[in-house]
Amino acid sequence: MSIFIDDELCTGCGNCVDNCPFVGIEIFDGKAILTEECTFCGACLDVCPVNAILIEREEFQIQKIDLSQYRGVWVIAEHYKNKVHPVVFQLLGKGGELARELEVKLTLVILGDNFEGQLEELNLYGPDEILYLKSPLLKHYYSDLYAQVLTELIIENKPEIILTGATPTGRDFAPRIAKRLNAGLTADCTGLEIDQNTRNLLQTRPTFGGSLMAIIKTPNSRPQMATVRPGIFKVVERHNKKAHVRKIEYKLKERDLVTKIVRVIEKERSSVNLEDAEIIVAGGRGVGSRDKFKIIEELAEVLDAELGGSRVTVELNWLEQDRQIGQTGKTVSPKLYIACGISGAIQHLVGMQNSEIIVAINKDRNAPIFKVAHYSIIGDLHEIVPTLIEEIRKIKSGNS
Ligand SMILES: Cc1cc2nc3c(=O)[nH]c(=O)nc-3n(C[C@H](O)[C@H](O)[C@H](O)COP(=O)(O)OP(=O)(O)OC[C@H]3O[C@@H](n4cnc5c(N)ncnc54)[C@H](O)[C@@H]3O)c2cc1C
Repeated sequence: MSIFIDDELCTGCGNCVDNCPFVGIEIFDGKAILTEECTFCGACLDVCPVNAILIEREEFQIQKIDLSQYRGVWVIAEHYKNKVHPVVFQLLGKGGELARELEVKLTLVILGDNFEGQLEELNLYGPDEILYLKSPLLKHYYSDLYAQVLTELIIENKPEIILTGATPTGRDFAPRIAKRLNAGLTADCTGLEIDQNTRNLLQTRPTFGGSLMAIIKTPNSRPQMATVRPGIFKVVERHNKKAHVRKIEYKLKERDLVTKIVRVIEKERSSVNLEDAEIIVAGGRGVGSRDKFKIIEELAEVLDAELGGSRVTVELNWLEQDRQIGQTGKTVSPKLYIACGISGAIQHLVGMQNSEIIVAINKDRNAPIFKVAHYSIIGDLHEIVPTLIEEIRKIKSGNS
């Protein structure tokens, strides 16, 4: 793509400068010139009264493919040390819904070794089929092998939707496959639905720093690939189905590896487990100070809950980073979420709005958190939280 300014036509009126959103154009010696900030957005073209600006774009040809050849929903079973990642069970729940709507099979794809003993258990989560690619080399995750093997498998089987966790592993192999297949990939989806008229997957994700939710579809390519962060969807167990197991012994050789795992260095694990917590008590800027946060900790303690907070509380150093909830923190879906002094910015909501019951305590009756709360308590948290703690203690000791 290239952009030209015709010096002879340009009158230096400056309309383009006023309308450029990126400071990509300026007037020099009475003529418009481009700066390094130009993004080729084209905003200057329409406002130039003498048509002095021209953008040449290479014609983009949409490759027509027969979409009807692609059928089925796949969930990729990420694993570590032979243990399937919890996000996989959440994706099977959502994948099952999508497959039922499309009236197609839900397939769980495992690339690994020694999974025979777990197939029965995995069957409980509702796949119609388990596609198990077995090779000793697939025991560990290798970017290049996953990309190669999954790409071959997708070309052969033509699924229409592929779901994978937005984990470091999923984020590593999904784009490699999407690039190889010229497929659409939407990262960090918070919602997935089917457009019944077109069978397109409607993929919702936060955009512009979380201030907007975009719905993305890839109508011209297949498969439609989406990554989903842990905690977004619920695990649905179903016991009455028996998945058909297709086991393929994959003939991979050491020489197929571009890289080789020499040693695995385990990072010290954080003791904070927000993703699996049943109850979370979270504090925001409204708590007031690090010292005052003790009251939030106390409420968490009496409820045997995990402690969390908004990004502001982490930035203010009231809370450790691994307790941040939201778009750039953890995504959680506990049975009970108590938000104390949290306004409910969209970036926070995307991380907790799937909680079963949300209780919000805020002194501003117009705080956005109340839009997602099931129980709204309007008032000063420093009066409400101590009363709550007292009442819970009474109930626990049987003196209520
Ligand atoms: C790219 C990007 C990513 C982000 N990621 C995240 C993220 O992952 N997580 C996140 O949380 N934020 C994130 N943010 C920040 C987000 O936009 C908000 O700034 C943040 O969530 C606000 O935190 P807060 O609710 O604690 O503070 P505030 O918005 O300041 O709200 C404080 C609330 O406390 C109430 N209050 C004050 N005193 C009391 C009292 N005594 N009793 C009761 N209520 C009281 C006020 O009425 C107010 O509603 C992100 C922002 C961007 C741009």
